Amino acid sequence: MNFSKPNLNIGVIGSGFMGKTHVYGFAIADRVFDLPYKLNLISIADVNSKVANSAAKKLGFQKSTANWMNLINDKQLDLISITAPNSLHKDIAISALKANKHVYCEKPLAPTLNETQEMVEASKRTNKKTQVGFNYLSNPMFSTAKEIISSGDLGEITSFRGIHAEDYMSDPKSPYTWRHEPVGGGVLADLGSHILATAEYLLGPIKQVMGDSTTVIKKRKTSDNKSKKIKIDDISRCFIRFKSGASGSIEANWLATGCKMKHDFEIYGTKGSIKFSQERLNELYFFSSNDKKNVQGFRKIEAGPANKPYDRFCVAPGHQLGFNELKAIEISNFVKSINNEIPEPFNFSSGHRIQKLVDTIHRSSRQKSWLRV
Ligand code: NAD
Repeated sequence: MNFSKPNLNIGVIGSGFMGKTHVYGFAIADRVFDLPYKLNLISIADVNSKVANSAAKKLGFQKSTANWMNLINDKQLDLISITAPNSLHKDIAISALKANKHVYCEKPLAPTLNETQEMVEASKRTNKKTQVGFNYLSNPMFSTAKEIISSGDLGEITSFRGIHAEDYMSDPKSPYTWRHEPVGGGVLADLGSHILATAEYLLGPIKQVMGDSTTVIKKRKTSDNKSKKIKIDDISRCFIRFKSGASGSIEANWLATGCKMKHDFEIYGTKGSIKFSQERLNELYFFSSNDKKNVQGFRKIEAGPANKPYDRFCVAPGHQLGFNELKAIEISNFVKSINNEIPEPFNFSSGHRIQKLVDTIHRSSRQKSWLRV
């Protein structure tokens, strides 16, 4: 029997937090899902040869380089994963598309709307597939939530409350990083983009926004001990109105002391409601007004094989998936789209849409008025 499949050869740019997560995702997706290709981790790039070499050894790549252009020019590669800082996304992605590679780019797609627009145009000039890393959308509990909403069990949806909060910038002494760069840095682009993607995934397009962004920590020290003025937002909130008629709010906050991973939402309807917290990512809570009054209450839906594709990882309910498995699910769907089995799950146009929301919220905050998206 011949088990051989065509190869999909992968190059990863950046070996930090997300670089490692991508590697894990590719390795797991290849083994857990029935994919049309064999996924091969071939080459990795990082800022210098020492970092790149050591990442290649540790993560199982055949080659490494200190120049990302070498990956783009490598004829052996079919797919480029971009896990480098946001300011590099556009140049790398457009070069990769021009070199006929599929592109998997971390969120946010790019720091500015002009750049994301250029990236969309470049993607439309090729037949190569694109994907932006909005991994929370790959949680089986999100498809379950969407199914409950579409079934009408919540009645007419009246409101949405979403938050993405963490505390990794809460110490005023923590250093200035690329996440503080004036163009494209800031909490709304970094964390708020995730909750905006979740809001639209579950309830459809947002049509109007009224934002309020603040910079709480006004200065930070660089690695060479220079004081740098902070021009980006630490906390952003926004009132939103959906096209459907529902209203709501989102908050993005990286000063939320003690809060490690709050990607949470509550959705209320005329007949029921659901709520979710990323810190308990295998649970979805569902309240139905149709339940008998004396037993009414939020019921916990615990992830199990019925919440597909949980079954691919584990046959037993309640054993739980984690953050890295969400990346493997995102990758498996992207790979299926490369083989034209399904549409691209979240392509550059979808990433551009999220950047449009971020940009409109910032403008609305500056103008102190509601704006149409
Ligand atoms: P990180 O700082 O941990 O890693 C970035 C890596 O890129 C580092 O290894 C750095 O040395 C490398 N790099 C910098 N300049 C480079 C260059 N010129 N060429 C090659 N490599 C270069 O950052 P991170 O947290 O992994 O974030 C990377 C991207 O992932 C960002 O776009 C971020 O917004 C995104 N991100 C997404 C999620 C998610 O849940 N989807 C979570 C965290 C970060």
